[in-house]
Amino acid sequence: MYPQVNKEQNLPSAPPSYSDSMNAPKYEPYNPGNIPIGHSYNAPTMGPPQPTRVIVVQTEPIPLPPLGPKSVQLTCPTCRSLVTTRIEEESSSTAYLCCMLLFIVGCFVCSCLPLCMDNFKNCKHSCPSCGSFIGIYKP
Ligand SMILES: [Zn+2]
Repeated sequence: MYPQVNKEQNLPSAPPSYSDSMNAPKYEPYNPGNIPIGHSYNAPTMGPPQPTRVIVVQTEPIPLPPLGPKSVQLTCPTCRSLVTTRIEEESSSTAYLCCMLLFIVGCFVCSCLPLCMDNFKNCKHSCPSCGSFIGIYKP
């Protein structure tokens, strides 16, 4: 005589039926921001990356001839043309210093002499073609 058993309890748990599996919550992939699946999200780009090229313009310095109190002929480093420099004379700071000293000493008449003397004047050389400053001659 077999003990009466509950057949339903002894049976291994049956796999869920077809209708159960359809009702089960479906797996949804993580989708932040409601981005349409299947379309790869492309960040806004500014076109393909451009290789940065550093162009180094090497200009060989033009050796300047020694500048004197007179105009000299040289190649302008700016416009690279053979020019004769334009001279602008200006009184150097030494001239103003001597002028002040003479004024303090009392030689009012002589005080303006250093400003008139060529030995106290700087000669600014500039290009007559492009007007760029080339150099200065200090006596
Ligand atoms: Zn020039």
